[in-house]
This record gives sequence, structure tokens and C-alpha cells, in this order.
Amino acid sequence: MINVTKTFLPSFKNYQSYLKKIYKNGWITNNGPFEKELTKKLKLYFNIKNIEIVSNGTIAIQIAIKSLGLKGQIITTPYSYVATTNAILWEGLQPVFVDIEEKTFCIDADKIEKAITDKTVAILATHIYGYPCNIEKIKSISKKYNLKVIYDAAHAFGVKIGEKHLVDFGDISTLSFHATKLFHTVEGGAIVCKDREISQKVFLLKTFGHIGEDKYIEVGINAKNSELHDAMGLCILSEIDEIIAERKRISEIYDESLSGLNIQTPLKPKNLKYNYSYYPIIFETYETMQKVRNALIKNEIMPRRYFYPSLNTLPYLEKRVKKRCPVSESIANRVLCIPLFVGLRKKDQLKIVKIIRENLN
Ligand SMILES: *Cc1c(COP(=O)(O)O)cnc(C)c1O
Repeated sequence: MINVTKTFLPSFKNYQSYLKKIYKNGWITNNGPFEKELTKKLKLYFNIKNIEIVSNGTIAIQIAIKSLGLKGQIITTPYSYVATTNAILWEGLQPVFVDIEEKTFCIDADKIEKAITDKTVAILATHIYGYPCNIEKIKSISKKYNLKVIYDAAHAFGVKIGEKHLVDFGDISTLSFHATKLFHTVEGGAIVCKDREISQKVFLLKTFGHIGEDKYIEVGINAKNSELHDAMGLCILSEIDEIIAERKRISEIYDESLSGLNIQTPLKPKNLKYNYSYYPIIFETYETMQKVRNALIKNEIMPRRYFYPSLNTLPYLEKRVKKRCPVSESIANRVLCIPLFVGLRKKDQLKIVKIIRENLN
């Protein structure tokens, strides 16, 4: 069976060398030496000042919202993984969905202003598949209306605009280091803050809200990651350039062999150093998507409907929140992500392409 993704694992020997050190010093969690080392290396990699590692990418969004003291409405994208919306709801805020652009599948910044009310406090947008939102426009809107900007950068590890990493935009960017993501720590995530004080607050919030044994400051939670997770991250970070290069090579085989077909892929902005995190294909109709999907599954190839459903249609949303987002709903109904991972063989790629070709009508 060929899955949409296959977790990248470093050599056992390499991981084991970290485990030996963990066993030797007996420190397995609570900001240990590997957490410190990974934090430092991520700062260097992204060329940023503040980053806090947490236990997953969902709690990263929740803590981001909490650290900014947000209450009320958050303008957000309907086209993302469900965690983006759930984090807003879990924190007791109301998501206000603004439809996406037809070409990038990111939130349509030209439609944001119309959705702003006196309760709007922030914009939470996803750089979907690692392609950037309209950062400039979102920045100018946030300035004009005094809104905070949080980017769900779960797909954006390693993506650069010019010389600047995509995680370095907005007030906060959140990352997921889940095993299915490009860079992972098995489970894990991180929070990148522009402001040092906010970052310190994030640290407090992820460690129960107290410092030492006697300073209890606010309601925190436990969102720490362990040394075993950080060790995995250190192994993978040392290979990240090769991982991205290999995914690029594989993606270009798809680009070439799928060209000329009646399908849509996201518009790649100029000046972007992409990370090749996903290979989404939008089919002309829902029926074609299903036909291709069934044919792939019959051949033991498992694509994923990343990202379905359009989040504005989630069944548990209050009625007033369920606004129509025609573009997002349409894309969500027609999209498939096809397998893309280090180790995917060209032979299997060509088989996937052949099945897609045969089932387009
Ligand atoms: C994976 C993902 C998350 C959640 O991350 P976890 O680490 O699995 O909690 C959030 N947002 C997006 C866009 C994701 O793809």
C-alpha cells in the first residue's frame, strides 16, 4: 500500500545515540538539554529570536490565542485542517469565515474588511500547503483595525519569501511537528512570537503558569514536549535540506508528467522558496475526483482529501457561524493530495499518474 505520506525516520543508530545520552543523564522532559538545543537550532534555522516548542500544533494555536488575551471574534479561513477552527472554538471565541482565493486557496484578503465587526480581535489564517497568504494586505488591514495576526504555519516549515522565513510574519506563527508533517518530532509543535514578552508568556502558559515553586502567575496548561521528541527533531533537522531537495525532485516528476491535464494546482508565487510539503490536485468536478480516488484506492494507493470538509460547514458550528464560502466549499469537494514522501519510487509515481490520466473525463 502507498499512503499519501510516509513518516521520515532518521537512521536508528542516530536516534539511538541521542537515547543513550538521555539514559545517561536521566533527564527526559521539562526543558532538558535537547529541548534547549533544538530551540537554539530552530532559531538559527529560521533566523528568528523567539520560539517555544510545545506538544502539538493544535495546542500551539490555542496558546497563541490565549497569550494575546483574545476574546470575541476571529476572522479565519475555511480551508485548512480542522484544528485551526477547533482551536478558536476551544478557546471560547467565535470563528468568522472569510472565503479563500481561487488560485492560492489561502484566505481572500480582499474580503476580510467586510467581515470585521466591533467584536473582531484577530485574523487567524493558514499558509495552506505552505503557500503564503497575502501577507502585505493582511498586515495593512491589521494595522488599520488594530487586529492581531496569527498564522497557522503548520505546512510552512522551511518556506521562504526572498530571504525571510514564512514563520517570521504576523504577531505569532504556529507550527506542527506531527509525524505526518515535513519536519517532525513524532508529536510536537512550536510557537514563534514577534514580541519577546509574548513569547515569555507562551513559556509560562505551556508550563502550568507558574515559575519555580512559589510564583503562581496565571492559568497555564501542560504543553511541554519531551527529550525523546526533541531528539527526533534534532536528528531530522540535520537532514532537512536533503529532505526538502528530495521532495522537490519528486514533485517535479509529478509536475512534468501531469502537465497538460485538465486539473488545477495551487499558483506558486514568484520569489518563493517552497518546501514541497504537499501535492494537491483540484479536479474539474467532484465526480472526477471521486472516480480518480476510487481508482487509486483500488490499486492500494491512498490519496487524502486534504482539506475536506470546508470548515464553515462543520456540523457542530452554531448556525450564525455557518456562512457560505463557495470557493472553499468547491475546492474542498474536488481536491486530492497524492502521495509525496522521501522514498516514493518513480515507478509508483508514474503508476499514480497513469491512473489519474485514465480516469479524467
Ligand atoms: C496538522 C495541522 C494542525 C495540527 O497539528 P497537530 O500537531 O496535529 O496538532 C494544525 N493546522 C494545520 C493546518 C495542520 O495541517
